[in-house]
Order: sequence, then structure tokens, then C-alpha cells
Amino acid sequence: MKIGFIGLGNMGAPMAANLAAAGHQVAGFDTAAPMPDGVTPAETAASAADGADVVITMLPNGKILRSVADQIIPGMRSGAVLCDCSTVDVDSARAVAEQADAAGLGALDAPVSGGIGGAQAGTLTFMVGGSDDAFATVQPLFEIMGQKAVHCGAAGAGQAAKICNNMILGVTMIATCEAFALADKLGLDRQKMFDVVSTSSGYSWSMNAYCPAPGIGPKSPADNDYQPGFAAELMLKDLNLAQDAASSAGAETPMGLQARDMYEQFVEREDGRGRDFSAMLPRFTQRNG
Ligand code: NAD
Repeated sequence: MKIGFIGLGNMGAPMAANLAAAGHQVAGFDTAAPMPDGVTPAETAASAADGADVVITMLPNGKILRSVADQIIPGMRSGAVLCDCSTVDVDSARAVAEQADAAGLGALDAPVSGGIGGAQAGTLTFMVGGSDDAFATVQPLFEIMGQKAVHCGAAGAGQAAKICNNMILGVTMIATCEAFALADKLGLDRQKMFDVVSTSSGYSWSMNAYCPAPGIGPKSPADNDYQPGFAAELMLKDLNLAQDAASSAGAETPMGLQARDMYEQFVEREDGRGRDFSAMLPRFTQRNG
């Protein structure tokens, strides 16, 4: 397939490299990042998209996605698919899908879970909104970049799934960290805490797969002085998206709101910026004295 790939940062670069390594013809564009192996540089976003069967975007936010969509949609060939893999607000995902549809293009919102490691290893999970036809066109590419693609529904459904998933993740990470800090105060050994909780009803991905306590459980950013991983400010971005979606849909999300406020405090008023989102644990232990 002929692929245009726009946004070649931490996530986009390895995803594009995997597509090129699998034999696809990939033209890439980024305003700052270097071209990954096997990707042909394009002068502009529009020229990367020109003549492509599928254009993939992996950009920081919905505002930038909308601006890139304005640049590329008019020149894309009829019947091509615009597949956005960034994490953005549901409204931007739906607006770009409508714009693509009006231009005779397919469109998918296909945010990912699995982080930079998953992007490099080609083991991402895609959660996808859009038509059956567009999903079928891009499915072979999801299989290269990931291990699983779930077609969640119409336009915006992928972003909705991503926002809900990450709201759970933010809440469970805070709960896991505050429980470790409480266990410390109660004199409970951290390894014993992990041994019990990871096989009891308090288990979660935050505890079992991404344990915030250094030296315990599988290797995680806690073992690397809380270098991200998944930065606290990216978690804050996703929790803000969840709150925006909840207020526009009229849904009550008190735990999501509390998690947003705590990550906001950590990132904006404490030392959380640039640290992994699991650094909530040293934050609690410091505050607990
Ligand atoms: P990043 O900042 O490393 O990459 C974004 C890239 O977009 C940068 O290279 C930037 O130069 C480029 N860019 C910005 N404006 C542009 C424009 N107008 N035209 C072309 N390129 C432009 O971010 P990332 O970590 O790769 O994340 C990308 C998206 O994936 C985000 O929406 C993020 O929320 C989501 N995400 C990230 C992770 C993660 O672990 N990093 C995990 C899941 C989802």
C-alpha cells in the first residue's frame, strides 16, 4: 500500500518504521522530528498524503489534527482513508470524520494503547471508530503495528473507548500509589503488599503490570527513577479529555474528576512534569513524611 504518515514523534516514528519494514511505501512528514528508517521524507503534510491509499496521523492534540486535516483532505485521492491514531477529543475526531466524508474519503479514529514499547514492538492495541469499509481497508496495517484492533463503532467511538480506559488507569494508579504509601505507614513490607494484592481483588494493570514501587513486580518506569514511560502530563491531558467528554455528554464521573485534579496539582504545582505518571507513589510517601 501507499501510505502517508504525518507526525513522526515517539509513537509515530516506530509505527511508520514498522510499516516500511513490512514492505509498504511510506512517505512521512513532521514539522520537527527526523525521518525513521525506510520512510521517504515529504516536503509538506499535503505532499505526504498525495496519492496515498491510507494517511495515518499521530499528532499531539485535536487542534493540530484539525489543522493538518485542513491541509491534506483537499488533495487526497477519492476513496482513500484518513486514519488518526492520536489521542484527541471526541468532538475533533467527529469533525475530521465529517470533513473527510464530505470529500469522498473514509475516516477512522484509531487511538492506541501500549506506549512507546508497544509501538516499537508492533504490539499496540487499536480502538477504532468509523465505517466497516474504512476499518477493513486499514486492518492489514493495524496487524503490522499492533496485536489487536477493536472496531468500537461509528466515528468518535475509538476516542470514547480510549478516554474511558485512561480514566480508569488514572484512578487505579492513584489508588495503587496511595495504598502503597499507606502500607509503608502501617509497616507492611512492599513486596508482601504486592504478593497479596497482585493475586487478590485489588489487582489491576497498575499494580500487576506497571507496579509503581521500585524493585517490585515486572520492570516498570519506577525501576528507572520514574523516567517516562507515560508522562504525568500526558495522563493529565487524557483526564482532561475525559472531563470534557463527561461534561458535554452530561455524565457524572467523580473519581475521574478527582484523578484529574490530583494530576493537575502534581504536574502544575508540584514536581510531576516530565516524570512518569506512577511517580504519584514517591509524591505520597514524601507528603506522608
Ligand atoms: P510526540 O510529541 O513525541 O510526537 C508528536 C509529533 O507530531 C512530533 O514529532 C511533532 O513534531 C509532530 N507535529 C506537531 N505538529 C505537527 C504538524 N502540524 N504537522 C506534522 N507534525 C507535527 O508525541 P507521541 O508521544 O508520539 O504521542 C502522539 C500521540 O499519541 C498523542 O496524541 C499521545 O497522546 C498519543 N499516545 C502517546 C502514548 C505514549 O506513550 N507516548 C501512548 C498512547 C497514545
